[in-house]
Amino acid sequence: MNSSEQTQLRSLPSISRLLQSDEAIAWRQCLGPDRVTAIARRVTEELRRELQDEASSAEAALNGSKGSLLNKAIRKLDELCTLESQSRIRRVINATGVILHTNLGRAPLSEKARAAVMEASGYCTLEYDAIKGSRGRRGMSVEKLLIQLTGAEDALVVNNCAAAALLILKVLAAGGETIVSRGELVEIGGDFRVPDVMANSGTTMIEIGSTNRTRVEDYRGAIGEKTRLIMRVHPSNYRIVGFTTAPSLVELAECAHSANLLLYEDAGSGVLTDLGQYELGDEPVIRDCIADGADVVSFSGDKLLGSAQAGLIVGRSEIVQKLRRHSLYRALRADKLCLAALEATLESHLNGQSFAEIPALRMLTSSRDAIQQRAEKLLSQLSQKAPAGLPLRAEIVDGESAIGGGCGPNVQPPTTLITLEHENLSADSIEKRLRSHFIPIITRVANGKVLIDLRTVAISDEDEIISALRELG
Ligand SMILES: *Cc1c(COP(=O)(O)O)cnc(C)c1O
Repeated sequence: MNSSEQTQLRSLPSISRLLQSDEAIAWRQCLGPDRVTAIARRVTEELRRELQDEASSAEAALNGSKGSLLNKAIRKLDELCTLESQSRIRRVINATGVILHTNLGRAPLSEKARAAVMEASGYCTLEYDAIKGSRGRRGMSVEKLLIQLTGAEDALVVNNCAAAALLILKVLAAGGETIVSRGELVEIGGDFRVPDVMANSGTTMIEIGSTNRTRVEDYRGAIGEKTRLIMRVHPSNYRIVGFTTAPSLVELAECAHSANLLLYEDAGSGVLTDLGQYELGDEPVIRDCIADGADVVSFSGDKLLGSAQAGLIVGRSEIVQKLRRHSLYRALRADKLCLAALEATLESHLNGQSFAEIPALRMLTSSRDAIQQRAEKLLSQLSQKAPAGLPLRAEIVDGESAIGGGCGPNVQPPTTLITLEHENLSADSIEKRLRSHFIPIITRVANGKVLIDLRTVAISDEDEIISALRELG
């Protein structure tokens, strides 16, 4: 090491000097002393390495004074602490038009569900009957609501729909065989694969029919000594069109019951009210699954039902009782925050207020005209508040939204998009700037333009978008 290098390294601020800076003291309030100390250590190590790398270059001599190194260290500390503080789960504005955006938390909760979660977040009557002063059963009120909403005999709530499928297959079919059509061996959301869930639950999968055509005789022909269950899976994020055949649920139920077998329907998205008028295609309505003869049905809480992540099970009482008593249920059951959100959401469904109160359903049923009016108003407010000559060009065009969350892959609700172009910024840089906003605004990019779809944006978040767009200027 030469002498100039040594001088440099000696002027490196110590960790304790860095921790005495106003910035570090402020960050300690927010991140806690241990995390800030670890970051300060990382900053000084990085600076030391930089100095050693630069030592031979002429540049080093220029920025080696003690004061400037301390300032540099504080700037780095501030940057790293900012990143650290942003790495937790944060609220974002979803301007993608994808309603059940899996990466953004699928269904946003209703105001009532949010209030219920707050209420349950302290001590609560999770397993307690405050009137009798005795122990109550977890999830009982949610189960009652599900029974009323679906016409089933009993109901049970677990952590998600994948857990529901695992529990049902394990309890009803482990050690035996489960028959399923080849047209339904789907993968949903990258990590729910029907063959894997079968294997994990210890049932042998018997595939029948072909990808596009399966008849009730195929099911009948596969029934043997070891058969325990017939499973039907709603293909959710995938459709086979054209030359296709599949038996109706009524036919399948007859086939299963005449052989003393049970029929399990994995319905996926949890539609409780007929959405037929919204052209959602063929999402199964849970009440119909029960009426058509399914013995047990599973569906998600955070898809079109519009609530928290949960796996909902409804069906015949002796089956649901068996599931409730199994030790695996203890490992898969839902927590109090989830149950509170579900209870409030299911009440909206039961009161006939689902389309007014549940954001996912409200967004799904917004008309293109209503979205266009919002887009026009937003742009006129932007031009009023914008500094003259903003180098941003915004236009209104027709487009399509998406349901997402593995529902209705062939349904694209018509929408109105705001397109953004900028004189000095590429579409990718605009997208990144919006994503880096104080409240990240998530957009789409297509054909060199940034697209904003207000279908998935709360009206109360529009001002935030306007101020982020002005900052692009
Ligand atoms: C989405 C889906 C699942 C998985 O549901 P999660 O709640 O995400 O675990 C399982 N089966 C079907 C048919 C689905 O659509």
